[in-house]
Amino acid sequence: MKTKRIREDAWLLRVAKRITEDLRPHVVGTSLRVRQPRRVHSTDTDGWLAVIGNAGKGMPSLEIWLDRFSGCPERKFYACFCGREEQVIRGLARRSKALWPVREVTDDDATADEPKRLKRRLRLNEFNEPVLENYEEANNHFFGFFDRTQGTMARIEDHFCQQAVAFFLDVVPAQPNAQMEDASNEVYARCENRKWVQAHLGRERSRYLATQRKMRDNYCCQVCDMTFSAVYGRALGASFAEAHHIKPLGTLNAKVKTRLEDLITVCANCHRMLHRMDGKPGDIGKLKAIVRKHQKTSKR
Ligand SMILES: [Zn+2]
Ligand SMILES: [Zn+2]
Repeated sequence: MKTKRIREDAWLLRVAKRITEDLRPHVVGTSLRVRQPRRVHSTDTDGWLAVIGNAGKGMPSLEIWLDRFSGCPERKFYACFCGREEQVIRGLARRSKALWPVREVTDDDATADEPKRLKRRLRLNEFNEPVLENYEEANNHFFGFFDRTQGTMARIEDHFCQQAVAFFLDVVPAQPNAQMEDASNEVYARCENRKWVQAHLGRERSRYLATQRKMRDNYCCQVCDMTFSAVYGRALGASFAEAHHIKPLGTLNAKVKTRLEDLITVCANCHRMLHRMDGKPGDIGKLKAIVRKHQKTSKR
């Protein structure tokens, strides 16, 4: 596919603006504050950055970068919280169980002269995973992720924007409100143990991992094969689906991190049906069989 080439600094500005717009409807009830960036700034990492807001008054800023710091020949997108106080950044990194940093970077890991880049290039499995960076000399601290999406500019932009929004909202979540409680009482109607239900829903609410799962499954329901864009059109249905945690209720250990393999992409209907089932290992297979059986009957 041919994409009209634009300058990379202009691309960064466009992407940063889009993330700001995508975040805006979700920041109500959180301490996040977003604002449209007007321009990008050159960095000492052979690229640019755009500031799109902060995590609250006096809190770290929200930044979007496009540079060669990861050690790759081409520039990579990066989304992060950036602040002057190491403890504050570490505090943010500790907030979500799904976002445990896979790597910690210090002054020793980066080249001393400009343009600065990692001495040991970021490994493939360290991309799209949270990374903590602490630079004592410059007194700069970062918590963010590097994106390694490949393909057209449109694809890179789509994937990165969705993950950046999910990342920021996972680190600075909304205060739980009464409405959420109501919704959770409706699901797993047959399960008596509310603690298990809360644990299950808590894991599914981790947006970052859920977004990755849904992108990998192309937003296609793994039970009934429907995609929202096929039924509702691209304008409304694109990039929409839900993620379900497949570990049976009651086996969720608080200390164990949720992995991508623990989640499955489902449509809203199949998700509700799964929650009405027993919360046992065979539920997904059972529901698939039920759907297949009834699709056949209705076609007759
Ligand atoms: Zn479905
Ligand atoms: Zn679920």
